[in-house]
Amino acid sequence: MNLEHLKQIDPEIYEATYREVKREEDKIILIASENYASKAVLEAQGSVFTNKYAEGYPFRRYYGGCEFADIVESLAIERAKKLFGADHINVQPHSGTQANMAVFFSVLNYGDTILGMSLNHGGHLSHGAPVNFTGMLYKTVFYGVDRDSGLIDMNEVRELANKHKPKIIIVGASAYSRIIDFEAFGNIAKETGALLLADIAHIAGLVATGLHPSPVPYCDFITSTTHKTLRGPRGGLILCKEQYAKVIDKMVFPGIQGGPLMHVIAAKAVAFKEALTEEFKEYQRQVILNSKRLAENLKNQGFDIISGGTDNHLMLVDLRRKNVTGKDAEDALDKAGITANKNAIPFDDKPASITSGLRLGTPSVTSRGMKEREMDLIAEFITDAIKNTNNLSKLKEISEKVKKLGRKFPVYNI
Ligand SMILES: *Cc1c(COP(=O)(O)O)cnc(C)c1O
Repeated sequence: MNLEHLKQIDPEIYEATYREVKREEDKIILIASENYASKAVLEAQGSVFTNKYAEGYPFRRYYGGCEFADIVESLAIERAKKLFGADHINVQPHSGTQANMAVFFSVLNYGDTILGMSLNHGGHLSHGAPVNFTGMLYKTVFYGVDRDSGLIDMNEVRELANKHKPKIIIVGASAYSRIIDFEAFGNIAKETGALLLADIAHIAGLVATGLHPSPVPYCDFITSTTHKTLRGPRGGLILCKEQYAKVIDKMVFPGIQGGPLMHVIAAKAVAFKEALTEEFKEYQRQVILNSKRLAENLKNQGFDIISGGTDNHLMLVDLRRKNVTGKDAEDALDKAGITANKNAIPFDDKPASITSGLRLGTPSVTSRGMKEREMDLIAEFITDAIKNTNNLSKLKEISEKVKKLGRKFPVYNI
């Protein structure tokens, strides 16, 4: 990675960046929402398009000199269309939450009712959490998972939709390890006269490669991030039916954003091109194989996995039987060189700052080329670390093994 000028001009930021690269290479990253963008994506994102104002849309801009920005954004849209097959695509949202905001502001009024998945059961902040704008502006109703199966309780979704008649139903999660039945949500939305938004921020890479059923046939709107399984730059994306194209575009700009981040859109276009390749599909297949293997290993070591396993890139580990909190597990893993996040489990009795769960995902380790054999090792490291949360020398010992494993799978070769 070429950081020569940065090194000269700003040694402090250079030093932090250099150390971040080392961190990303030396640690095993199991944060389900993270990934390693390719060098091509990083180059596009670090390009001169950061200089360009391009308010408006391709060939309809409010600034001169947009001829190359137009090429970039048109390619991003065209490629995203190939990936997801939607009528209309907007690639300008700065983030997943901005993408959701654009949808809500397009079709909801202050005080309208929205039905989303509870944050405590795996939903996202921007689906109605009280601390988020969605919780502040709308009347919120939440569905969750069944206590025994850990699966989304479709009967509850139907009952709540019938009872509260939400203007929009949101389907999509940040910590749900099973296939989501978008068709069933589509039927409930139709029956109850609700609009349907699928937020595929986490599973976009799986959807793009056909490894998770697509929500496109059943939804009015689909939002996503571009930086999770999709492995692009940090950013958002909206797909919608043709009838909403105008209102969505107007709400993204000028409604809630000014100039698009053209350097990020260039990087999105590159990521979409990569996602259209056979290698990317192979990568996503391996992400799932690795996730299943890691879950199986952990189960064999006596860990409970919510819903009993995984169909996708992540799993939610229930630590209660191990008598360890999510927070202590996260801390111990960190000392052992493994980065993961504590996460509430459904019906958790501990506060969000402690939790009884751990969310683990395989997009990052799979991007490094790790396969089933490495998942076996990682499961051993995790088991060892959680057995020894208070044994600093043991955790240090594990971190040496982690570093050794990481070195065999370099990412950026600095
Ligand atoms: C990550 C995530 C988002 C938000 O993405 P940001 O880019 O962090 O705003 C939205 N929805 C879901 C389901 C997510 O998991």
